[in-house]
Amino acid sequence: MPHSLVALLETLLPQVHASLRNNLQGEVARYIPELGKVAPDQFGMAVMLANGELVSVGDCESAFTIQSVSKAFSYAMLLDALGPEDVAKVVGVQPSGEPFNNITLDPRTQRPFNPMLNAGAIAVAGGLYECYGEESFARMMQLFGDAAGRPLEVDEAVFQSEQATGDRNRAIGHLLRAAGVFQAPVDAVLELYFRQCSVLVTARDLAAMAATLSNLGTHPRTDTNVFNPLTVRQTLSVMFTCGMYDGAGNWACNVGVPAKSGVGGGILAVINRQLGVGVFSPRLDAAGNSVRGQLACIHLAEELGLHIFDSSNAGSALLDAR
Ligand code: GLN
Repeated sequence: MPHSLVALLETLLPQVHASLRNNLQGEVARYIPELGKVAPDQFGMAVMLANGELVSVGDCESAFTIQSVSKAFSYAMLLDALGPEDVAKVVGVQPSGEPFNNITLDPRTQRPFNPMLNAGAIAVAGGLYECYGEESFARMMQLFGDAAGRPLEVDEAVFQSEQATGDRNRAIGHLLRAAGVFQAPVDAVLELYFRQCSVLVTARDLAAMAATLSNLGTHPRTDTNVFNPLTVRQTLSVMFTCGMYDGAGNWACNVGVPAKSGVGGGILAVINRQLGVGVFSPRLDAAGNSVRGQLACIHLAEELGLHIFDSSNAGSALLDAR
């Protein structure tokens, strides 16, 4: 990767950050009480190239909970454990166009539509618990840490807050168990799910995790192989069609790259074989996606030609700059 791309990002990221800094639209998530205490105006962005070079701006070292961004990685973990055919018995790959906390199953399969919704991610947690039992969370932390390139920790207060107020997710868990998606105890599966959502990351961590996905599943700096390439392909495909919930269609048109958002305010976006983007800004729109995070990705995609269906379409116009 030439120095010029890093130089370009070193100019572009501060410009995008400055242009959005005063946009204070949206609200922090309050349905998890602890998330309501987050300082709302934090804003950080980071890009890690698939060769490990990193450019960042703003609050890129502020820790926040990963929330639903974790769903991409727990799905990849289950794909690596079971393979896609057995994972398909647990969760589909179909966009639902529904909000993230919807309590529905695909009527054709009696399985959740996709792993990016809460129902699908709880089904994935059930599958992981059935593979690894009490070791599930330790293994998950190892994997998330390998993807980020550093050990990660849990925000205990957010975890407790989710446990205390997660009746809707617990209802989803019971529905899944009744439908035979998993046989494990609902409380154990939900604890795993709430813990995975409460993992603390920074915008830099998200950029590194995205770069790992962009680099065929191997962390560009540590060279640790985290996911196999077919797992990455499937995970990115589902992120592309389902990663932004009921905002997924607009995202596909406006940004055109696989991405995953979380109600902690994080967005992770992947440019296959090239780079990973991490953005953190806790004010959310009605779909639960970071307002500034989305706008920042739209700016970056426009300036760098990231959309996978852009004119040159050899993966991305960025290839021309290399
Ligand atoms: N922990 C959150 C929940 O289950 C995750 C949702 C999200 O980030 N969209 O409600």
